Amino acid sequence: MPASPSSPELPLPVTSLQTFVAIASLMGALMALVLFFLRKSYPPSIQGLDDWATFPILSIFAAALYTTQGHWHHLLSMALPNLLVVLIAVLQLRGTYRHFQRPVNHRLLAAVALGALVFILATSGEAAYYVHRLAFLSGFVGLMFGAQLHVLWQHRQRSFAAHFTLFTLVVLCGVMGLRAVTALLEPPPLGIYSYSPMQAVYLASYSFGILLLSISAILLATERLRGELERLLKHDTLTGALTRRAAFDHAADEMARCARTGASFSVLLLDLDHFKDINDRYGHQGGDRVLVEFVHRVEAVLRRPAALGRYGGEEFLVVLPDTGPTQALQVAERIRQRLREGTAEPRVTASIGVATFRGGRDTLDAVIGRGDAALYTAKQQGRDRIEVEVLTA
Ligand code: GH3
Ligand code: MG
Ligand code: MG
Repeated sequence: MPASPSSPELPLPVTSLQTFVAIASLMGALMALVLFFLRKSYPPSIQGLDDWATFPILSIFAAALYTTQGHWHHLLSMALPNLLVVLIAVLQLRGTYRHFQRPVNHRLLAAVALGALVFILATSGEAAYYVHRLAFLSGFVGLMFGAQLHVLWQHRQRSFAAHFTLFTLVVLCGVMGLRAVTALLEPPPLGIYSYSPMQAVYLASYSFGILLLSISAILLATERLRGELERLLKHDTLTGALTRRAAFDHAADEMARCARTGASFSVLLLDLDHFKDINDRYGHQGGDRVLVEFVHRVEAVLRRPAALGRYGGEEFLVVLPDTGPTQALQVAERIRQRLREGTAEPRVTASIGVATFRGGRDTLDAVIGRGDAALYTAKQQGRDRIEVEVLTA
């Protein structure tokens, strides 16, 4: 963008626009500060924060340099801020890729940034290319936002953070696209702060958009942390099965649902056979590996909303919603089969007790108690077998 002679008496819309951009950039800087602190305190598994903390800072420099147009050489007051806008878009995109743990194609990103740099340098300072630069820059930024929209869309998270980010990106994509098209159709007056309604919308949306995107970054990172904590709380750290508490909560919810809809509900109680011997022979760590492998195998048999919880030690609870006694027995049989597959040592077998909700005054504790009694019978009958609860009147 060529130098526009700076006048001490700028028209009111322009000074208001400059003030707006300055305030938005300042607030973006505050957000960057928050993001830097989050990066320090959040676990490293929450990625993308580095990039997201850097782009609002760069945007302050870009905004400050743009306001010096006319004071410095065009390379400093035009080419550099334009390049910063490119970098901001690239960094922001990379942050999003990292956050969603998508592989980042650094070569492609570098090539794109380099291409943009060449274009900016080649056309810098030439008034004749002002429109092309404007169309290129808004098109480029719009494209980067579009790429992020694509990532977010693919992940389809249903959190407020994801919806907020999605909405911001859709609006920004629209404004940038519109700016690129209108720049070509109706060439605006020269200079970034020259007043035209579309230029005002473009600048205001961009600087406000940067602020909204840094808020999105904070929301997304916090949402991810909440998800990780929830996962930690609900899952056993060794095996990844549900914790006893989470399994009971899941069972209670599902049993209530089945009772409402009149569907059947069953549980399996599993206990590994002679597990003490496995620990004795292979050591505690060997025993741990057996537990992990056991959970993998059982989970491979189950389909949602069925779930596996660690009841304690080497005892597990399988929750089987919408499942009657016959199907529950089949699931138990499939689990036994699955444990027998393969030749990897140490091999392990399990004894399984099956119980089904009887309706009426039956409770979850009672169902689990009957499953436990059936498991005890299975142990007494010689292990590596399935026993169904004894039905009394
Ligand atoms: P059975 O159930 O067939 O009667 O025999 P068992 O040898 O499995 O007997 P029991 O249920 O009494 O023993 C369970 C053992 O599981 C005892 C305990 O040291 C071991 N154990 C419990 N939790 C863990 C764990 O997280 N890792 C390992 N390696 N061992 C565990
Ligand atoms: Mg046991
Ligand atoms: Mg055991």
